[in-house]
Amino acid sequence: MTSPVPTHAPDGDSAVRETLGVRRLPSTGLATGGLVDRFARPMRDLRISITDRCNFRCVYCMPKAVFGRDYAFLDRDELLSFEEITRIARVAAAHGVEKLRLTGGEPLLRRGIEGLIEQLAELRTPDGRPLEIALTTNGSALAMKAESLKQAGLTRVTVSLDSLDDELFEAMNDVRFPVARVLDGIEAAHAAGLGPVKVNMVVKRGLNDHEILPMARHFHGSPSTLRFIEYMDVGTSNGWQLDEVVSSAEIVERIGAELPLEPLGATAPGETAARWRYTDGGGEIGVISSVTNAFCGTCNRARISTEGKLFTCLFATEGHDLRALLRGGVDDDGLAAAMASIWRDRDDRYSEVRATLTPELRAERAKVEMSYIGG
Ligand code: SAM
Ligand code: SF4
Ligand code: SF4
Repeated sequence: MTSPVPTHAPDGDSAVRETLGVRRLPSTGLATGGLVDRFARPMRDLRISITDRCNFRCVYCMPKAVFGRDYAFLDRDELLSFEEITRIARVAAAHGVEKLRLTGGEPLLRRGIEGLIEQLAELRTPDGRPLEIALTTNGSALAMKAESLKQAGLTRVTVSLDSLDDELFEAMNDVRFPVARVLDGIEAAHAAGLGPVKVNMVVKRGLNDHEILPMARHFHGSPSTLRFIEYMDVGTSNGWQLDEVVSSAEIVERIGAELPLEPLGATAPGETAARWRYTDGGGEIGVISSVTNAFCGTCNRARISTEGKLFTCLFATEGHDLRALLRGGVDDDGLAAAMASIWRDRDDRYSEVRATLTPELRAERAKVEMSYIGG
């Protein structure tokens, strides 16, 4: 169902419009916190990719064949500076964003990330609350950095871990990084007060689906919450095929056969993971059904790419260049108006229409890579 598109003030800033290629005039200058898109979805969650580089070459995300020695990563001055990121986040908070997630690439590779977190920790919602500041990481540098991240103001951390089997994990990250060091990172995060840590496992049939149960057993009764993510067709370099997806339903069934589970309600509107609880009191798991049970209807996530483009969907083919605005000297009112205009125009719901696309049509869409836009 489409909600009525709000009317717009006739006095838009044409430079903003031209730079962004947006069709309509920016509306009221400063944000009100009540911004919604064409389907009445608010903007609540902002994911910010702070580097396109990574020390892993996960086969489903940055395969070496594409991201090899010659791959042209962005230059330093192409990345948003910490000040630029903070300005965008401040305006996003005024528009209703309550949660920031730093991602990448591998966000812990960005030098001085603690300084960025300190700046973001100063931001407030329109009613004066601090924003939640989360981080998604491969965990490789977490043992070293957990304490300083917490001191800087990080609130939560999500660690990606796709297997407990060293041989398989090392083959999946393709840089021979051992499981134990990621587990050390998770422990350090708990010790630093960044818990409960969420642990994300992407499941690809025939690659690591036999690790579903060992992972469930390992984290059962632990302070971490394990979440299973359906393998998605993000980007164009992973050669995704539908039959490689293990559905959330199958994951829950496989685990439940050994460790009985019961469903739990969502804790927050727009939550991506469906939650299940072990009936023996061993905690809970989450399943993220990005493919088999799309949650576009409540999707409240905006994304900022490494070079400052605003994307309104993980599967978008192009973003809106906020960096050009910032470096062109736009003031906060202009930035707020531009972001409002983009969000009001948003009608993305890729996961809901994916099933209607032929493989050829899917391949034709030049989607951006996960390492660039952030997970
Ligand atoms: N490097 C960090 C990490 O791995 O946690 C942050 C960036 S990574 C792109 C964010 C998340 O996206 C990770 O949990 C990763 O497993 C997930 N991801 C990457 N490619 C994916 C795909 N094709 N399908 C589902 N999840 C994917
Ligand atoms: Fe790097 Fe994360 Fe992608 Fe793996 S999933 S290659 S760790 S960005
Ligand atoms: Fe949101 Fe796009 Fe994913 Fe749908 S496909 S849930 S709109 S990011």
